[in-house]
This record gives sequence, structure tokens and C-alpha cells, in this order.
Amino acid sequence: MPSSIVELRSDTFTTPTAAMTAAMVAAPLGDDVYGEDPTVRALEERSADLLGKQDGCLVPSGTMANLAAVMTHAPRGTSIFAGRESDIYAYEAHGMSVVGGLAMEPIETDEHGRLREDSLLAALPEDHGDPQFAIPAVVSLENTANRAGGVPLTVAEVADVARFARRHGMRFHLDGARIFNAAVALGVDPAVLVASADSVQFCLSKGLAAPIGSVVVGSAEFINGVRRIRKMLGGGMRQAGVVAAAGLVALDTMIDRLAEDHANAATLAAGLAILPGVEVEPVRLRTNMVRFRLTGSLTHAEFIEATGRQGVRLAELGHGVLRAVTHNDVDATDIARALSVMGSVLRESVPVLV
Ligand SMILES: *Cc1c(COP(=O)(O)O)cnc(C)c1O
Repeated sequence: MPSSIVELRSDTFTTPTAAMTAAMVAAPLGDDVYGEDPTVRALEERSADLLGKQDGCLVPSGTMANLAAVMTHAPRGTSIFAGRESDIYAYEAHGMSVVGGLAMEPIETDEHGRLREDSLLAALPEDHGDPQFAIPAVVSLENTANRAGGVPLTVAEVADVARFARRHGMRFHLDGARIFNAAVALGVDPAVLVASADSVQFCLSKGLAAPIGSVVVGSAEFINGVRRIRKMLGGGMRQAGVVAAAGLVALDTMIDRLAEDHANAATLAAGLAILPGVEVEPVRLRTNMVRFRLTGSLTHAEFIEATGRQGVRLAELGHGVLRAVTHNDVDATDIARALSVMGSVLRESVPVLV
């Protein structure tokens, strides 16, 4: 058995830091459904502050954050535009439709995860006034775009989608599960990056390494609506300060260090690119993900199984793509070990000529 695991399947595997667990134990608590948990309020205010919005609302997951935000914007029977490869469309059990009563309009994204104006325009009904058509209410954009390889979209690219939404009377939601990865990679203030959005959700439980939670931010009136939907969905948590305390430590200590994850991912990508039988998907700017495929005789399942036996865990993403994600529990030594394990598995798979 390998002495330790190099967990590269996802940044959701991060475990809380010692400072987080200490803060969780010490946090002042109250009943957050009454709005009386001081640690939750502190996290919500700090989140809103960081992202330049009026208020915030802690929810148990990114999925619930997206659902509560979009349901607050969009009455039942209206529609939401989201990328065909987006988390909302691909990985959230179609809650927008099933729970929110919304029609989902999947939009083709380009190789950077952008929703281009021509694709958005093509999804609009021809005549807004005609009662037979759905009423488009929300556009949701992912930043970074997970299935595009974690590429960060720029301030201008985000603002392009905001302009489309505004022009067509729609609200603009940012699924910013990894918005701080985007801000750090681009070197911009996160508040500037999300300034054009009506609402943003970000995950505490991914690269920021907190165990649980997402925060939705937006106007004070919008957040009141989110609180109501959150309660309806069963996400009203009582002494949630236990969770929020780790989130506060995450915001204080884990944002700037995302740059290390990005550097480790760059090292991993460069090391993979020179291994035999590996094709690394290029990205115009890397955050914490590396997507690649194998061109030799090994199937992806065989490769994952073989590296896993040596303690290096990788994910298969579908569409024939393998993925490695760097995070706080993976350091430069782990990256070197992952490369050495992957290299030896690939070399062993090459038939020896005699
Ligand atoms: C992970 C993720 C979510 C959902 O978050 P959960 O906490 O897993 O529900 C939403 N959007 C994106 C882009 C994500 O990566």
C-alpha cells in the first residue's frame, strides 16, 4: 500500500486546516434561522464585502446556492440560459426544472467556457410578446468554467454576458464556485470581476478548503428572497456558525494561496506533456485543473486503476478526458510523485520489442 494518497480527483477532497477546526470549536453560536448566529452573520458580511455586494447568505452547498439564487430571480414558468457543459445543466439533477419550475435552455459554450452572444441570441424566442413562448428570466455563467478546464473568464467577458442579460430584461447570475481561483489567476479584485452580476455564488468547500458551504451574494432585497427559498429547500441551519467559522478562516487565509495550486497545476501539465502517450488539453490561462487524454493502448479505466494502486487518484470526466485538480492537500512533492507514478504506468504499458 502507498504510504499516502495524492488525491487529484477534485478540490472538493480538501480537508479543513488546523486553524479551521480550532475556529469551529471556538465559534460563538446562535440560531441562524432567527438570524442570530454571529459567526454566520460575520461570514455573510465578509463575503458580501469581498465581492462588493450588499449582503450574503450561507447555504449548505453550491447546488442549493445556484437553485436558491435562480429561483429568487425567476418565477416558475420562465426560463434560464446556462451552458450545456455547466454544473447547473450537467450536475445538479435538473433542480432548476424539477424544483424551480423553470425551463432550462442549454447554451453551447466555446472552448474557454464562454457564452457567446450569437449562441445566447439564438436561444431567445423570436417574439417576446407571443404567449406561446417561454419568458427568458436568467442567464447563468460559470467562472471558472469547470468543464472547459477551469479557464478564468475576464472582467470584459463576464461583462459581455451581463450586457446581453440587461438588454433582454434578464437577470445575470454568476456560478462562481471557483471565482477566487479566477480572480487570483487574472490578478484582479474579485469584486471587480463580479461587478456586472446581479448575484454570485461561491464555494467554501473547494479550493478554499472549508468542509461545508457556499455563499450567495447580491442586493439586500435579493438576499431576503434567497433566505426564504433557502428555508423552503431545507437549507435553514441552526447553529451554522460551526460551518461559518471554517468559512471565515478560508476567506482570511486560503484565497491568496490558490496561486500555489495554480503553480502546481502548471508543473503537472508541463510534466504530463512530455510523457509518452499523453495529450494535455491546452488552456489560455491555467488555474488548478489539468485535463488530458491518453493516446496509447491503455484505457482510461486501466490507467486510473493502475495509478490508484500506487496512491495517485485521478478522475475521468467523460468525453474521453482525464482530470487532475490541485488543492491545499497536494504539494510540490506530491506533484513530483504523481508524475513519476503516471510515467511508470505509461512506460510499463508500452509493449517491449524483442
Ligand atoms: C461544485 C460546483 C457546484 C456545486 O457545488 P456543490 O457544493 O458540490 O453542490 C456548482 N457549480 C460549479 C461550477 C461547481 O464546480
